[in-house]
Amino acid sequence: MTAVREIRLKSRPSGLPTADNFEVATVDLPDPAAGEVQVRNLWMTVDPYMRGRMNDVKSYSPPFQLGKAMDGGAVGEVTASNAPGFSVGDLVQSNLGWREGYNAPAAGVQKVDTMGLPPQAFLGVAGMPGLTAYVGLLRIAGLKDGDVVFVSGAAGAVGSLVCQIAKAKGHTVIGSAGGPQKVAFLKEIGVDHAIDYKAETDLSAAVMAAAPDGIDVYFENVGGAHLEAALNAARLRARFAICGMISIYNATEPQPGPRNLALLIGKNIRMEGFIVSNHWDMMADFHRDLAAWVRDGKVKWKETVFEGIERAPDAFLGLFKGENLGKMLVKLA
Ligand code: NDP
Repeated sequence: MTAVREIRLKSRPSGLPTADNFEVATVDLPDPAAGEVQVRNLWMTVDPYMRGRMNDVKSYSPPFQLGKAMDGGAVGEVTASNAPGFSVGDLVQSNLGWREGYNAPAAGVQKVDTMGLPPQAFLGVAGMPGLTAYVGLLRIAGLKDGDVVFVSGAAGAVGSLVCQIAKAKGHTVIGSAGGPQKVAFLKEIGVDHAIDYKAETDLSAAVMAAAPDGIDVYFENVGGAHLEAALNAARLRARFAICGMISIYNATEPQPGPRNLALLIGKNIRMEGFIVSNHWDMMADFHRDLAAWVRDGKVKWKETVFEGIERAPDAFLGLFKGENLGKMLVKLA
């Protein structure tokens, strides 16, 4: 028997969640049954999409259940195996985060081929957020030669890779993020024009000053004023990859749409939303390209790390306060 702690959803938030919406519980794991492995999680991820799962509404990802452990991406180490093909010490990833350890059928975990990267990279730059950047920029926006690219949420897990993929392919990139530390990071990764949106009174003017001839691609992570600025700055036949709109995830009332949406017509803009889980087919291509970019020094990444399962709610809440530079992670062991 092994005792492990997990985080449960205690109550559903209205607006910005608070620490009171979560509780820590301890459970005892029996020895793994036939066909199961026992895993000690090393790292877990917190991601903006989990905010939607705290609401009791039907969406592309099912709601967390009250009183039950939450879940999400994690990487861990097999500590006991009762399943063929798995040995103690194997590195595995699963959707069984928000807990220090678990027993699961072997089919519920995947072995990680580390590609020489640290294990937690598979929750960030080499995992779901990384693939999101790759899919959104290359498949949804259809990046092509000469495109000028504008990225919001540019210093985050997804956004910082979008910026670097576009730079690796030779594009002019404008990135927007909150605060001087994030702007400094954007410059470090080669972003041509880094905008601190929190210091701007007129975001549209700032984007147009950075791209006097307009933008061809907008990678949307934020929504609100950023989308309006992108529409204003868009060139003829611009393509918008609508990845996320974190500025409205905690809204308690429906938010107004962009006031300048009609620009879509005259500018022949194509706007397309996407969910990364419909594009797992690109993972092998993504890992091949990522390995080359990392080897050539074209992709770097940052992590913001909270330690201990009891800090997981703080890490999650930090996403909505901009506390992370790069990927927000929780180190569990
Ligand atoms: P990030 O690492 O970018 O972290 C979130 C960041 O959002 C914060 O650091 C903060 O940066 C910014 N932010 C938070 N609140 C606000 C606000 N009110 N207004 C403006 N900016 C805000 O997260 P991810 O990289 O994991 O995710 C980025 C986006 O991509 C999210 O919208 C997410 O939902 C979406 N996503 C979509 C996927 C899909 O399949 N479509 C898959 C994965 C992610 P700052 O300090 O710069 O404000």
